[in-house]
Amino acid sequence: MATSKPKIWWSNIFFFLGTHLGALIGVYYFPIHALPRPTIWLAFASWQLSCFGITIGYHRLYTHKSFRASLGLRIILAALGTAAHQGSIRWWCLRHRLHHRFTDDPLHDPYAATRGLLFSHVGWIFFKPIYGRLNVIETDDLDKDLVVRVQHRYYHLLAVLLGFVLPTIVGYLWRDATGGFIWGGLVARVLVWHCTFLVNSLAHWNGLQLYTDENTSRGNLVLALLTCGEGNHNFHAFPYDFRSSPCFMDWDPSKWAILAFQYFGFATNLRRAKCEDIKAGQEHMLLKYWGVLPPAEPDKTPDWTLEQVEQHIHQNDGCCLILLDGYVLDVTSYLVEHPGGSKVIRDYALRTTREAIDSWPDASVAFHGGVNIHTWAANQHMKRLRLAKLAG
Ligand SMILES: [Zn+2]
Ligand SMILES: [Zn+2]
Repeated sequence: MATSKPKIWWSNIFFFLGTHLGALIGVYYFPIHALPRPTIWLAFASWQLSCFGITIGYHRLYTHKSFRASLGLRIILAALGTAAHQGSIRWWCLRHRLHHRFTDDPLHDPYAATRGLLFSHVGWIFFKPIYGRLNVIETDDLDKDLVVRVQHRYYHLLAVLLGFVLPTIVGYLWRDATGGFIWGGLVARVLVWHCTFLVNSLAHWNGLQLYTDENTSRGNLVLALLTCGEGNHNFHAFPYDFRSSPCFMDWDPSKWAILAFQYFGFATNLRRAKCEDIKAGQEHMLLKYWGVLPPAEPDKTPDWTLEQVEQHIHQNDGCCLILLDGYVLDVTSYLVEHPGGSKVIRDYALRTTREAIDSWPDASVAFHGGVNIHTWAANQHMKRLRLAKLAG
């Protein structure tokens, strides 16, 4: 399935190139220096607000569930993201979840940087996608969300209304409907497209790798300025964090906006990566850079028998234990953090009925196999969750 040749997506090509051509012609006949001041502000707002719709709404809220938002905020973010003309929330999230799960994999990462800078920037949108691993991507949360469902159903109509008709109407308020359409519609769309696409291309090509070098993701200040703060892309290792970097002052207006939403009560449950995980990644990269990585520490995990594992499950009602590489891990606290969702982990949970014990599932194949590409940080985190080594 995944290896068959994808077909050219003509409608995408016509729309994408047509918008570029329209923007170019429009800018030629209505140059920026001849525009009324409000039209310039309209273009800037239309570009930036739709960009925030993508970074805060599509990316951090819906794809990575890095915070919870009130219904009103979800509707506003969905509307802003719709205006960016990057597909419905549902499709954008599924693609991006694939990207995080199979980063750089030429077959399964929809915009794999390993297929070249041009492909990762715009090439991928010219082909009808064949996503052979879509079946391993969590969709329950998106299917349950009314805003996502409605937006997906009426996406094309809403995108035209919010991305082109609305800026035209706003421009008409000061008798510049044409300027509103060209600059607030066409030009702003082209800007938000390329700024977002730079995260797939430039941020996987040039910049610092502060947390991991297991994939091509990199951090870049220029990009952060262009993408409402998505520039520190090497934070890939901690996708569920509502920030794009742990330092408050690093340029990330999306993070500051989410904190403001929390202050006013519109956002809750802001998720942060564990400090020790971030520090471990940073130290690892620093030591690797200086070529002084220390030898692995001796394993001090205690040995447990089957009975001791059973006893632990009985004494800790509701705990979730899994078997990974011969170790028993308590992943209860990790369920909400797992970027791939909790269901896939629960499928491997150890249970204590007699029949279940006889066929305890081993999560090792799923963890190390082709279902996912787990990072160094994820491996380290799993080591910290070890309870015991299963004797025998
Ligand atoms: Zn990426
Ligand atoms: Zn992401």
